[in-house]
Amino acid sequence: MAKKAGLKTEPSKKTSKRLPRKSPKKPVGQRRTAEAVKAARSGQAAKATPEAARVRAQADRKALRGTTAPWTKAEVEEAFRRFQQAMPEPKGELHHINPFTLLVAVVLSAQATDAGVNKATPALFALADTPQKMAALGEERVRDLIKTIGLYRTKAKNVIALSEKLVAEHGGKVPGTREELQALPGVGRKTANVVLNIAFGQPTMAVDTHIFRIGNRTGLAPGKDPLAVELKLLEVIPEAYMLHAHHWLILHGRYTCLARRPLCERCIIADLCKWPGKTVAA
Ligand code: SF4
Repeated sequence: MAKKAGLKTEPSKKTSKRLPRKSPKKPVGQRRTAEAVKAARSGQAAKATPEAARVRAQADRKALRGTTAPWTKAEVEEAFRRFQQAMPEPKGELHHINPFTLLVAVVLSAQATDAGVNKATPALFALADTPQKMAALGEERVRDLIKTIGLYRTKAKNVIALSEKLVAEHGGKVPGTREELQALPGVGRKTANVVLNIAFGQPTMAVDTHIFRIGNRTGLAPGKDPLAVELKLLEVIPEAYMLHAHHWLILHGRYTCLARRPLCERCIIADLCKWPGKTVAA
């Protein structure tokens, strides 16, 4: 017999299956996994489970859309007061001897870790700690000395070219302006900012992958590209903290606000952070 449209028939007991109950959609921040909450309460980091990764990625996407609440001036001040209290004199982790070796180390660190660069540079800088000595060393020798670093062929070429340019146009000295630095081969805005900050004590903000992530994730400085995040950070960070702000944020991203598994449980700005996926216990 044909069933009447719209008439529900009782499913037989054999074939009936209980449908999963749909729970109302919660905001991303509340969709923490049971493990994350348990870990937060015990003071340990949440495990990087696939579910935690999904929630984190979703929260990161939400943060990137700039939908997180903005920080108040007082909150920004408080965050940097805590960073300063925890580490009054933060230092970069790239080994260098002088402004020239700093410049070379930063050029070599593009798409590589500081630790990886630090393994290769002692031998390089022992032979060449000035542009003149580096140019004399030659591209082939430099390439051989830095071959453990990613993109070493291009980087060796740039290190020799920038050394020659420093000798020819700057009397062998590293220039102290952004324009002059960015005119050197292999030197972009980020590298120039690092050199200006560390070698010349200028309050610049070099946005690397860690700072880009923190700016967006925490809601401190949302931006679609590194330049947008840099400009926003320059706008919101109080002047008194600007000189060291770059180091504090890099170190925070490297050791606490990790990309895959942020350690919110031990984060000193957890109560201020606006990330909807943070795993701190309420
Ligand atoms: S609470 Fe701290 S570690 Fe967690 S996302 Fe925010 S800034 Fe990063």
